Amino acid sequence: MKLENFTIEKAHKGLMKKEFSCTELTRAYLDKIKKENKKYNAFLTLTDKLALEQAKKVDEKISHQEKIGPLEGIPIAIKDNILVEDYKCTAGSKILENYAAPYDATVIKKLKKAGAVILGKTNLDEFAMGSSTENSALGVVKNPHDISRVPGGSSGGSAAAVAADECIVALGSDTGGSVRQPGSFCGVVGFKPSYGMVSRYGLIAMASSLDQIGPLAKTIEDTQVVFDVIRGKDNLDSTTIDLNSKFKASASLASIRGRSGRQGGRNSKPSQTWKQVPSPKFQFQNLRIGIPKEYFGKGIDNKVKEVIEKAIKNFEKIAVEVKEVSLPHTDYALAVYYIIMPAEVSANLARYDGVKYGFSTMSNEQRTENSLLNSYLKTRAEGFGDEVRRRIMLGTYVLSAGYLEAYYGKAQKVKALIKEEFERVFNPSVDGVDILLTPTSPTVAFKIGEKKDPLAMYLSDIYTVPASLAGLPAISLPCGIVNKLPVGLQIIGPQFADDLILEAAKLCEQSCL
Ligand code: GLN
Repeated sequence: MKLENFTIEKAHKGLMKKEFSCTELTRAYLDKIKKENKKYNAFLTLTDKLALEQAKKVDEKISHQEKIGPLEGIPIAIKDNILVEDYKCTAGSKILENYAAPYDATVIKKLKKAGAVILGKTNLDEFAMGSSTENSALGVVKNPHDISRVPGGSSGGSAAAVAADECIVALGSDTGGSVRQPGSFCGVVGFKPSYGMVSRYGLIAMASSLDQIGPLAKTIEDTQVVFDVIRGKDNLDSTTIDLNSKFKASASLASIRGRSGRQGGRNSKPSQTWKQVPSPKFQFQNLRIGIPKEYFGKGIDNKVKEVIEKAIKNFEKIAVEVKEVSLPHTDYALAVYYIIMPAEVSANLARYDGVKYGFSTMSNEQRTENSLLNSYLKTRAEGFGDEVRRRIMLGTYVLSAGYLEAYYGKAQKVKALIKEEFERVFNPSVDGVDILLTPTSPTVAFKIGEKKDPLAMYLSDIYTVPASLAGLPAISLPCGIVNKLPVGLQIIGPQFADDLILEAAKLCEQSCL
C-alpha cells in the first residue's frame, strides 16, 4: 500500500469505496513505522492493540454500509506527553520511563469517540523543553528531509512522523512554539490554537499558562478536521472557553465580510460558525494583512527572509491591504518567556519525587534508611536531564523571596504589554489588520549537535514565543525551500479567531505556492 502524501480525505474516500480496509490501512502504517523507526526515531511506543481494535470497529461499520465520520479510521500519532490510558507516557524523560497513564486525556477521549486510529506515542524533548528533540532522554529524532538534521522541537517526533508518512496526522503540544517550529522544520502544517480552545486535561504540564495542544498535518483541511474534534470547553480544564468563542471567531470573520457591505457582516447571526459561511473566497478579498517589522530584523537567515517575502507578495493578490506594523516589545518576548515558563516548570515538576511517579533511585527500604529528602534529591538529580534541571533552577530562582517582584512580577507586566500591542494592531480603530504574517523560525532545520549553547537554541523560538505569551492562535505552513529544506510561514490572528487563520492559511496553501 502506498502511503505517500496520504491525506484524511484520500484515506476517507478509500475506506468508503472499500479500496482498502481500515485494518489494512492501520497495518500498513504500523509496518512502516516498525521498518523506519531505527532511521527517524519518531515513535517511542506503538499502541498496536488499541489501533487494531479501533480499525476493526470501523471495518464493521463500513461492512454494514454505515456512514463514518471524517476522522473515523484515520491513523493518528500522539506526542508522548498526552495520556493514552494503559500506555506508557514518558514525556521524553527518564523520570517517567515506566509510567503508564491511568486515564485518557480529554483530547484522546474525543479522538477515540470520533473513531480515530491511535498508532503510537511520539518522541519529544524532555517534558517538551527544547527546540530540536535533542533533549529527549530516549534519543534524538532525525529530520526526514535530511537525517543529519534535527526535526525541530519539542514535538519533533510528531512532525517527523507526519513528514515521513508514518501517520496521516498527529497531535503535539505548543508552549512557546513546539508545534509550529517542528512543523516548519519538517515541511508540514503545525497549528497552535488560542489558549483555552483545547483542553489540557491529561497533558503533562510544562508551563500551564502557555501550554496548548495542537495538530500537525500535511494540509490545512486535515488540520481543521482534527481541530474540530479536539476543540471545545471541558469541565476538567477551567481555562477552556465555552462555545461563545465561536461567536467571537465568527464576529471577526463577520467584520471582514461587513467591510465589503455585500453580505453577512455585522448582522450575521452570532451563533454562525465558519463552516456555515457561504463563500470563503469572497470575504478574503477584504483581508487586511499586517507585517510586523520586528520579525524581519537581525538574526533571520537571508534566504529564509527571501522565501517569506515571496510568500507575502503572493498574499497581496488575495488581500485588500498589506501593510507594515510595529510590535515594539517583541524584543523582550524571549526574556519574558524564559522567566514565566521556568517559574511554572519549577512548580509543575515538583511532583516528580521518585515516590508518586515512575523512576526512583531508591527502594522503599533504602528510603527509610536514608532520609526521604535524600531520596527526592537523588531521584531528581538522576531522573531529569540537564535542560530540565536548568529550568527548574531558573524557575526556583525567579520565584524566590526577594526576587519574585524583580523577575516574575516584572515579566508578567511586560507580558501584558506584549498582549496589548497585539490587540492594538488587530483593533479596527488603530492598525485594524486581520492577521499577521511572519517567519516561523529564523532558520531552516539545523544540524544535530550544532547548537551547543542553550541561548542559541532558545533563539530558534524568537518568532513563535510572542503569540504564546499573548494566548493567540498561530499556524505555521510550508511556504518554500532553502537548500532543499522546508521554510514555514507563520500566520498569527486575534484571540479566538482560530477559524479565520485556518481559512487564511488555506488560501495561502491554494494560491500562494
Ligand atoms: N522550544 C521552546 C522551549 O524550549 C518551546 C517549547 C514548547 O513549546 N513546548 O521552551
